[in-house]
Amino acid sequence: MKKILLATTNKGKFNDVKEILKDLDVEILSFLDFDDYPNVEETGSTFLENAELKCKVAFEKYGIPSFGDDSGLEAFQLNGEPGIYSARYAGENADDESNNLKLIAKLSKLPEPHPGRFVCAAVYYDGNEFKSAIGEVRGNIIKSPRGNNGFGYDPLFIPNGFNITTAEMSHKEKNKISHRLNAFKELKKFL
Ligand code: IMP
Repeated sequence: MKKILLATTNKGKFNDVKEILKDLDVEILSFLDFDDYPNVEETGSTFLENAELKCKVAFEKYGIPSFGDDSGLEAFQLNGEPGIYSARYAGENADDESNNLKLIAKLSKLPEPHPGRFVCAAVYYDGNEFKSAIGEVRGNIIKSPRGNNGFGYDPLFIPNGFNITTAEMSHKEKNKISHRLNAFKELKKFL
């Protein structure tokens, strides 16, 4: 069976992508399948540049066709923050809780609602050319976390058309509307 390596150590992302691509006849691996996985510095200035960087490093190290994914939350009232800094918004050693608290503190100074979007850039690289796609899901950011599913900013994000956060959705429900679904669905067409 063909293998594709998803250049991440994030189990939340890995599970999302596996679910989205489950009808393809491929085995999806992640960096967690290797002891010596590289630590890819996100030095790009866009989601797309960072996603390209990740799959290039993965392919060059292991020679396995690779996916890179870079994603994050943009709050429109904050000019797109935390954006590409989503994972390290509260500093280099940030965790989901400290990131969420920083976002809540910033939004608390602004009038409601707090519109925003999750964005995902997904890139495939097999040593030839890069194939890429961008997905998004729009909604509102709330300041009282709700729900225990998902990861990252999920407890703060209510997608348009819903009254629950993505952390209150099941994995399956979230994957029907997510930014990652939209990006990887596009990318699937190239595989
Ligand atoms: P990346 O690993 O550099 O792509 O950073 C992704 C960061 O964006 C995560 O650590 C989360 O903080 C946030 N993020 C991306 N996708 C999601 C999602 O589906 N739900 C919640 N937070 C997300």
